[in-house]
Amino acid sequence: LGRHSGDQRAQGFDYNGVHFGQDNLNVFAGLCAVDTREHVEQMMKALQENGQVCTRMGAYKPRTSPYAFQGHGKACLPYVFELAGKYGMRVIAMEILHESHMDEIREALEKTGHPTGVMLQIGTRNTQNFELLKAVGRQTEFPVLLKRGFGITLEESLNAAEYLASEGNTKVVFGLRGMKTNLGDPHRNFVDFAQVPTVKRLTRMPVCIDPSHSVGSRDAGPDGIPEVFQVTAEGVVAGANMILVDFHPDPATALVDGPQALLLKELPWFLEDV
Ligand code: PEP
Repeated sequence: LGRHSGDQRAQGFDYNGVHFGQDNLNVFAGLCAVDTREHVEQMMKALQENGQVCTRMGAYKPRTSPYAFQGHGKACLPYVFELAGKYGMRVIAMEILHESHMDEIREALEKTGHPTGVMLQIGTRNTQNFELLKAVGRQTEFPVLLKRGFGITLEESLNAAEYLASEGNTKVVFGLRGMKTNLGDPHRNFVDFAQVPTVKRLTRMPVCIDPSHSVGSRDAGPDGIPEVFQVTAEGVVAGANMILVDFHPDPATALVDGPQALLLKELPWFLEDV
């Protein structure tokens, strides 16, 4: 990924008709967790109406509590991929927690028969799950979004990305999603988007920002602009190449992270702002 080869030139990749590089920007707005087919359809319809071809859809959810909703897992994949085909979604960012999830995704994609692609997301809790990284790195069919670990150094997270590359998969996007602090911050995580240019300087990876998981709420400042919009702007100005952002047709009923989901009516505004 550029760290150990001495070659610092930007080098991206194309996947399913979408370019991922240090020189462009893709928005992945969507559901943090798939809950109902209706919500998936409303979300994708809104994305299509706004000219989008990428989305985020969480099927497998890494929850802090074992009693919290764990995601519908493979049960929702058939309708997620069917609707993605219907609404022209080319790439879906989807977190996996175990290497077996890759097989479930592959199987569901084949059965659905729609030309939808999946970017495998490795979340902050698994940044240093080295066996998962190696397994995901061994396949080159799916590109990977690797999020930084929320409690480890940037260097350690970049090394985690090298695990993917060293096994053969260099189609890697690096995600900044905020850091945990014990300072009682008003945000869910300390926003780290100032490091976008740093990652781009140190590696060849396109850099993603996740304003939703960084801020953790859709609260607005005194100007009425949600803080998620403000930190997104910071990330874009800093050179972000991908934005992973939570939206929901009815956040009050969302099963995961409803308080941070933006409203569908805010989608055109958000995209225009970006
Ligand atoms: C997510 O994007 O759904 C998620 C759980 O993010 P993170 O790994 O950054 O907490």
